[in-house]
This record gives sequence, structure tokens and C-alpha cells, in this order.
Amino acid sequence: METIAERLKSALESLKQTALNANRAPNSVQLLAVSKTKPVSDIVLAYEAGQRLFGENYVQEGVEKIQALQELSDIEWHFIGPLQSNKTRQVAEHFDWVESVDRLKIAQRLNGQRSAHKKLNVCIQVNISHEGNKSGISPDQIFDLATQIALLPNLELRGLMAIPAADQSLQQQRETFSNMFTLYSELQSHFPTIDTLSMGMSADMQGAIKAGSTLVRLGTAIFGPRQAKA
Ligand SMILES: *Cc1c(COP(=O)(O)O)cnc(C)c1O
Repeated sequence: METIAERLKSALESLKQTALNANRAPNSVQLLAVSKTKPVSDIVLAYEAGQRLFGENYVQEGVEKIQALQELSDIEWHFIGPLQSNKTRQVAEHFDWVESVDRLKIAQRLNGQRSAHKKLNVCIQVNISHEGNKSGISPDQIFDLATQIALLPNLELRGLMAIPAADQSLQQQRETFSNMFTLYSELQSHFPTIDTLSMGMSADMQGAIKAGSTLVRLGTAIFGPRQAKA
């Protein structure tokens, strides 16, 4: 079996090669290692192999890991899961990024609960596949939400995040990613702090990078398969 360090190395190589093939700079795409459900010891292995960006989906689990790994102070922690308003305080106090902001109320709470010393980076999560039960706002609401987030002093609006439907054909996937890139480019022309398009996971990283992703979120490719969460 491959080690975490080996998987990380080949994921980074594949990421860079895909960027080059798409005529993009190899360092224009960052890798977020999604460590949900995985033990702290796995995060340490990835850290020792050079990884610094980690993503967590569940508030309690994420905060426990952040506290356990406090000494590794150059880790950048991204919250990427659905966020309920009664959990925003823990996220505002412990994470560096929230990629899953999809309504103003959540943004306002995060802003109020964040220390003024260091801004919380946020991405707006877009429901790009128009799925009824998925998190994310519809594309036509992005601009209004972005405008309101940009006014909140303790948040820094960094970009957009999407989780496309899993059952798409390659053609649909290409369209979805390309639609996301269009939304991202439009938004970027209005908001100078925007530099992040978070899309692409272990199974669709290549297509996402070709379409312009700047941050791919890889779980399985780095840490191996997950047990279903009980
Ligand atoms: C779990 C998760 C990932 C990683 O998925 P893999 O298929 O294991 O790479 C990425 N993004 C989000 C939002 C996730 O919940």
C-alpha cells in the first residue's frame, strides 16, 4: 500500500502536470488535503511530507484536531462542510477559511464572532448543479451576497466553491466547471480580493484544473477511502 507521503507526492505531480498541459503555471493551483474522518496522526504524516492546507467538514471534529495540532502553527485550516448558525462561533474562532458560506446570516455571525486581529477568509458556496437538497446559493444570488460580505470588516471575500453533482457525465462536468469559471471571472472583476476558485475533488481534479480551478480539495487521493460516517 502507498503511504500518505507517496500519495501526496503523486497527487501534487499530477496536479502540476495537468496545470502545465492546460497552459497554466504549475503553482497556480493549490492542494487542500481533506482530512475529515481521518485521525490526527494522518494529518501529521501529510504535514511532515510538506502539506500545509487542510480541510475539515464537521465542526466538532475539526476543532478537536486544530486544538490537538496547535503546535503546527503554519497549518491553514479550511472549513468546507455545511454550517449551521449555532456552530459558527467555533468555526470563527478556530479556522482560517470557511469555503461553505451560502447565506448572509452565516456570514454576519462569522463576522461578529471573529477577532478583529485576523480576517476570516471566506468563499461563497454555489449550488452549480441546481440540486434541491444541496448546500450553496443559486448563481443569480452570488453578486448580492458577495456585495454584502465585502462590507463585513472581519471577513475577507476570497472566491467561490462548488461541489458538482456526483452523477454527471463528462460533458456535463465540463459545462459545470466552465460555468463556475465564468461566474468566478465576473465576480473577480467587481471584487479585487477574489483570487480563489475552489473546485475539483479526487475523482474530477483534472477537469477542474483545466477549467481554471485554483484550489482542489483532495481527500481519498491523499488519505485513502473513508469509512461512512455513523
Ligand atoms: C469530502 C470532501 C472532499 C474530498 O472528497 P474526495 O472525493 O475524497 O477527494 C472535497 N470537498 C468537500 C466539500 C468534501 O466534503
